[in-house]
Amino acid sequence: MTTPIMELTGRVRALFTDLDGTLTSDGRVEAKTSALLEKLEAAGIPIVVVTGRPAGWGQAIATLVGAAAVVTENGGVTFIREGGRLEKLYGVPAATLPEWRRRMHASAVDATADVPGARLSSDSRYREVDLAIDWNEEADLTVEDAERVGSRLREAGFAAVRSSVHVNFGPPEFDKLSACKTVVRRAFGGDPADLSPYVFVGDALNDASMFEGFPRSVGVKNVARWWDDLAAKPKFLTTFEEGAGFREVAERALTLG
Ligand SMILES: [Mg+2]
Repeated sequence: MTTPIMELTGRVRALFTDLDGTLTSDGRVEAKTSALLEKLEAAGIPIVVVTGRPAGWGQAIATLVGAAAVVTENGGVTFIREGGRLEKLYGVPAATLPEWRRRMHASAVDATADVPGARLSSDSRYREVDLAIDWNEEADLTVEDAERVGSRLREAGFAAVRSSVHVNFGPPEFDKLSACKTVVRRAFGGDPADLSPYVFVGDALNDASMFEGFPRSVGVKNVARWWDDLAAKPKFLTTFEEGAGFREVAERALTLG
């Protein structure tokens, strides 16, 4: 049972948010959303962006959004702002990456061999830990085909999660939630076992670990599209979709202090 966002209570220590389909509206962050992000920062509510997008986007997002931390590659690579620089953390030991990469590229070929139109996402070349099969960005696969590719990658020993645009896959050693627990400890000096001071907002299947782990988790309205397939549901729901839904959460957080 979900609760309307207006019933969210308690101070928000930091706002964790997904990017695609949550901060973005029709594929871009609107000016009024950016303005609210600045307002949150000024009000002492840090932003953490938690995305399946590549590590190569991490520094750019930190610069553009002024985020305290950016989790990229669904937890594979995390950037934490420390003073004037960004500290970079990997979800797996860096020495194991070359072998993982070799296996992942081979498995991407196997998993998509008989799925017409399935291919690595164009942003895969900027990824350091995970890779992504494009199903709904430049490609136009059915949900069934995307799921078929995902389950083959899981059978090959990878973690694979579907976002609104990609099937991300990589070493089964991290997820968005595990990376965010590191952020809580390192960036906020918080207890990773208690995520109640924080709020997370997201929209898709690759947010399931976050919906489960954050007691105050929020789905923007478009999460309804994947509702039945979500292993864990958000506690709160917004009235509007995408960026407009995020703004409801941000406005609410500002009133709560
Ligand atoms: Mg998303």
